[in-house]
Amino acid sequence: MIHNIPYHSLEKTNQEIKKELMDSFRDVVKGNWFILGKYLARFEEAFAKYLEVSYAIGVGNGFDGLKIALRSLPLAQKDEILIPALTFSASILAALETGIHPKLVDINPKSGLLDPKKAEQKLNVNSRAIMPVHLYGNPCDMDAILQMAESVQLYVIEDFAQSVGARYRGKPTGSMGIINATSFYPVKPLGCLGDGGMITTDDPELKDLCARFRNYGYSDKYQLDSTGYNSRLDEIQAAFLSIKLQYIEKWQREREMIAKRYIQNLAGMDKISLLESGIYAKPAYHIFPIRIRARDKLRNFLAEKGIETQIHYPIPPHLQPGLKFLGYKPGDLPATEEFCRTELSLPIYTGLRLQQVDLICEHIVAFFKKNNSNPVS
Ligand SMILES: *Cc1c(COP(=O)(O)O)cnc(C)c1O
Repeated sequence: MIHNIPYHSLEKTNQEIKKELMDSFRDVVKGNWFILGKYLARFEEAFAKYLEVSYAIGVGNGFDGLKIALRSLPLAQKDEILIPALTFSASILAALETGIHPKLVDINPKSGLLDPKKAEQKLNVNSRAIMPVHLYGNPCDMDAILQMAESVQLYVIEDFAQSVGARYRGKPTGSMGIINATSFYPVKPLGCLGDGGMITTDDPELKDLCARFRNYGYSDKYQLDSTGYNSRLDEIQAAFLSIKLQYIEKWQREREMIAKRYIQNLAGMDKISLLESGIYAKPAYHIFPIRIRARDKLRNFLAEKGIETQIHYPIPPHLQPGLKFLGYKPGDLPATEEFCRTELSLPIYTGLRLQQVDLICEHIVAFFKKNNSNPVS
């Protein structure tokens, strides 16, 4: 029997709020104002409040958010920023685009997140910043990171593109660095219906700088104070996001139920490792990774049954052809490389039913039974 379970689907969430989305679209069209208007101002205010920060600055996408946030800090060429080796390449590209040097730090294999101890070993006279990435929606060990950052004077900038809604000891991810950035790419924990991103900070000067950089460098209508970018969150997306923000906790709880069901079903299996996410963590449940040696075989087996999975990420950034010039070679970041060889992301999204989760788990069990006489190691 072919099940037809996609890895991800936005159908249920968008259906649930379709009328509200359509109404707000009509309102924006009626207002005839599409860039830097009242819908963005309203959403920035609501998002800042939700994140428990003073300011939120809407930008065109998460990548631009990271670039503009980094640009607002007093960083110069030769300065180094510590970045976890396991992340979406955009985190690293943002540093490169800003003209600073990304120093990649290996992960804690149990959490898949930046290992503060390994970060400490990479410190040198050029270290100026650190970018914790709350990958898969799991918050990094922020106390350890903030403590180290304070003791050696590093700027902390959180990449919370995968973790809107997650909390670390009660604090929202994206509220703990001096400046932080997230993405509203459609499938992220808070996604719009196109591209979008946000910068958060408590610092009024950094807020002003980012508001300027997103608008070419203009501080008001006619005065250009510096060079900059064109990267603004448009009114239509801001209006959609204001609606979706009201559902974020509900949808997160639904994903939490799915994650707990997977854990319940898979926890005892000795050939599978689940991610550990710290007692301090309230995850956003963006991605549900399992780790298994026979990853590709299991992925094909599930695909044959109509169960779609993904890999985050099959090639670590430091081994991507486009980043070869950084000079890394296989074996340099072993925990990250091992993770990329064994990671498999199972379906998790609003609208995925618990029976479907059980079914996926039954097939995983069946896979091991079938391969028992033929060890998959
Ligand atoms: C998605 C993502 C980004 C980039 O966001 P875009 O909106 O796609 O530009 C950056 N960092 C991480 C960790 C991401 O997952």
